[in-house]
Amino acid sequence: MNIWGVIAMAVISSTPDRITPLKNDIRSPRCTTCGKTFTKQTGNFPASQSPIYACNNHFLPVCKTCIDKLYEHYCAVLGNDEDAIRRICMKFDIYYSKALAESSRKIAVDRSRVHTYISRANLSQFRGKTYDTTIDEESRQVIESVEEVKESGVKILQRTVKFFGVGFSEDEYKFLQDQYDDWTARHECQTKSQEEIFKAICIAQLNIQRANISGDQKKLDTSMKLFQDLLGAAKIKPNQIKGDVISDQQTFGTLIQKWETEKPIPEPDPEFADVDNIRKYIGTFFFGHLCKMIGIKNSYSEEYEKYLKQYSATKPEFSDDAVNEDIFNKLTGDADGQ
Ligand SMILES: [Zn+2]
Repeated sequence: MNIWGVIAMAVISSTPDRITPLKNDIRSPRCTTCGKTFTKQTGNFPASQSPIYACNNHFLPVCKTCIDKLYEHYCAVLGNDEDAIRRICMKFDIYYSKALAESSRKIAVDRSRVHTYISRANLSQFRGKTYDTTIDEESRQVIESVEEVKESGVKILQRTVKFFGVGFSEDEYKFLQDQYDDWTARHECQTKSQEEIFKAICIAQLNIQRANISGDQKKLDTSMKLFQDLLGAAKIKPNQIKGDVISDQQTFGTLIQKWETEKPIPEPDPEFADVDNIRKYIGTFFFGHLCKMIGIKNSYSEEYEKYLKQYSATKPEFSDDAVNEDIFNKLTGDADGQ
């Protein structure tokens, strides 16, 4: 390797990694409220998920002690601790949820409730959520717990909320359930893994709808890609399905449901609607017909004739009895009609 090669290698090895941003080296973090400096951020400043604090290593710039003081101040001013937590969340772009605030009360007996709340709001299930998420959820009136379904009297089933998880609005639950019913009526869904894939497909559809409404192209592309991947995982991508094998992939139950939707069996005559009336069918059309054939007159053959009469054509006959009588007398040669 010549000298230029050595220089090039040295330049490449010293180039910073552009994909993973380096952590900010904050050696003496200072509280922007009280001015106190610390040796490290961890343990002294609350963590944050907000992009506002991304270059502060995702820590709030106010120390834990000052947050405590602020919380006490809001408790006194606003009159209750939940509103105080909400105000802190609003101020520092932290995700606020009423259910989360209530659950933090239970475990915050010997700890500061506001710090318990912030720690829980940073758990993985709330990843990426900020106060903006709170505003979005509240404008959509999302359901935050299964119990809330009972209390609020919304027209969705608790089973639906349990199945899809909390965090959707009433209309969204209806959309999800309709889509889920539709997918599972058309495709086989027998195992838990199939259920989970169809559930994820429905949520992906909802995300596509949301991205379309908000006009967020990046989110739309991501949602569409995820949707396509999920269809592939379920083996129901359009190029994976041949029309003539659709019926082979469906269970007998789903096929019956499909036929009932597309070409339902017509309603029977009211007379025969009751399946117990099978006796009448057999009595009239089997025994009745048999008796008629071999010339036995009984209730079966009478019933059979009565039914056939409805569908039979008869020759016209003279209706004048006097003329009929004359014809009969002429034919028999009985002038007196004896
Ligand atoms: Zn401070």
